[in-house]
Amino acid sequence: MKIRDILNDNKVHISFEIFPPKTDAGYDNVLSAAEQIAALKPSFISVTYGAGGGTSKNTAKIASHIRQNLGVESLAHLTCVSSTKDEVHQVIDRLKEQGIENILALRGDIPKDDTFPVPNQYKYACELIEDIKSQGDFCIGAACYPEGHVESACKKEDIIHLKNKVECGVDFLTTQMFFDNSILYNFLYRIREQGITVPVLPGIMPVTNGKQMKRICDLSGTILPQRFRAIVDCFGDNPAAMQQAGIAYATDQIIDLIANGIRNIHIYSMNKPEVAAAIMRNLSEIVGA
Ligand code: FAD
Repeated sequence: MKIRDILNDNKVHISFEIFPPKTDAGYDNVLSAAEQIAALKPSFISVTYGAGGGTSKNTAKIASHIRQNLGVESLAHLTCVSSTKDEVHQVIDRLKEQGIENILALRGDIPKDDTFPVPNQYKYACELIEDIKSQGDFCIGAACYPEGHVESACKKEDIIHLKNKVECGVDFLTTQMFFDNSILYNFLYRIREQGITVPVLPGIMPVTNGKQMKRICDLSGTILPQRFRAIVDCFGDNPAAMQQAGIAYATDQIIDLIANGIRNIHIYSMNKPEVAAAIMRNLSEIVGA
């Protein structure tokens, strides 16, 4: 089923994410995580894609397994930054063969060496989206950045590019993680004002390794509210306490989003079924209320 149709009612939809193993050795562990997360009956599960394309085979295989054998719709990510158009066409054919109906179309992070862009390559996600649209009847999602994408000179410019991307054929958007909901509300106001009307799924990251997250956010420019920093400072050295606090923080964000009328929420569950399950338990009376 197409995700745009799943989202087309007024119910609260929670989705989760898993990432494929870097090597075939980790495949069974990821399948087991996918099975446990699917048992929570999310609206869909997304499967990420290695920017270098190395795990692309596994993305299609796992996404296909989720929809065919686990009874949950899947969303296959697809990045184009390290592939030629011909290589991307082969991946799209594979997704079609595996019965995948939903693709999150991304450019990917530009490699640090000078290999980007080579001839016959996509420069931006919007070009990939146009191409996917011409290749079959897919539901297409794309990424957006409430705090602005790191390469953008300003948020206004980023939203102009986002509008262009959506007009190329995007059915829904998923946001980069954020830790202060007011940033999301401000972003939604700005994009709606610019005429971007597709559903936006806020991406919530339950932080289980606080110190690592602090480093990632410092690099990507994600704002860490004082309340969040205090939690990491206090519990960062105690993994069990940090996980409990991270789940509580994410739950708090989700409840606030739902209370403010947001109906579709994506959780960066990072192959951690216990984290996904704890959040679903915390929302048991809220989702569907
Ligand atoms: P684009 O939409 O192409 O934007 C990239 C930059 O170019 C932005 O600054 C934008 O403003 C600018 N831009 C866009 N169009 C134009 C234009 N026409 N002219 C000038 N500038 C333009 N990475 C992975 O490797 N694998 C994944 O599975 C993955 N999943 C993700 C899921 C989500 C929900 C998010 C938010 C990110 C994900 N990423 C993933 C990271 C993503 O690949 C990077 O953030 C990447 O740098 C940008 O990808 P994009 O598709 O947003 O690019």
